[in-house]
Amino acid sequence: MDYFDLHCDTVLRLQDGSDLSDADAHINLRKARPLERWAQVFALFVQDNAPGTDTAYDAYRRLHAIFLRQMRLHSDKLVFCRGAKELTAAFSHGKRAALLSVENGAVLGGRLERLEELRRDGVRLLTLTWMGENELGCGGEAGGPLTEFGRAVVRALPQYGIIPDISHLSDEGVADVFALTEGPVVATHSNVRRITGHHRNLTHKQIREITRRGGLIGINLCSPFLTDDKALASCDNVYRHLDAFLSLGAQDTVCFGADFDGAPIPGDIRDIGGIPVLYEYLLGRGLPQALLQKVFFENALQFWQRVF
Ligand SMILES: [Zn+2]
Repeated sequence: MDYFDLHCDTVLRLQDGSDLSDADAHINLRKARPLERWAQVFALFVQDNAPGTDTAYDAYRRLHAIFLRQMRLHSDKLVFCRGAKELTAAFSHGKRAALLSVENGAVLGGRLERLEELRRDGVRLLTLTWMGENELGCGGEAGGPLTEFGRAVVRALPQYGIIPDISHLSDEGVADVFALTEGPVVATHSNVRRITGHHRNLTHKQIREITRRGGLIGINLCSPFLTDDKALASCDNVYRHLDAFLSLGAQDTVCFGADFDGAPIPGDIRDIGGIPVLYEYLLGRGLPQALLQKVFFENALQFWQRVF
């Protein structure tokens, strides 16, 4: 089976010097072997800046160096892709595709000119905030609108070929993004709030608007975003969220952003090696194969082909 995933924190796990081939992580190349075509967005996650510092940017540079080193070490199996042509070429050579995002606009340190650096680095998605408050605005936990700087970033992103990612962003911030741009918007790793009432999940209105714009929404396998139950979620909870997305007309929008290496994953999936288990489960629940091919792969691939 094919798999296209919009979000993982695996690069963070490689900071200890472990290698992507066999790292003790949700994602490594060995665990991903059952997948045929596989594209993975690797997020470079940084914490918010302490006031008056540039720590997020320094962390970004360190993580980016780790990412590039892994790309070099595994160039026989894995190709860093910026655009759709590179993706197609990677797959035609039987290789895996690695894509790049930044989780937390704090990397910009309040400097718009850093977007050019992100563009040069091949970053395609920018998660505007994390949980708290940064130079751009507020996460869902903090709550509040975009700042002037955040508004300037959203307006500038299209000229750098970077798509805004509203996962983590407050509802006020999301409304600002929709008002500031007519282009596609993505939510790389968020679920349906009406199913699981967490601020990290999306309202029906947000889901419909992302869908209307031809964006993408990645289903997050983080247990607390899949169920209110204190126990770990299961494939059944994933089914419920997927079913809700489909009932909102998001069949061309919904895909996966599993949050591997950043979240507690359902016990019956465990890690990327369990993605075929999830696929078989959803097939068993009566979802057609052609639909699942879209959700697991084609929707995100077609987005890349359309936008990049
Ligand atoms: Zn996240």
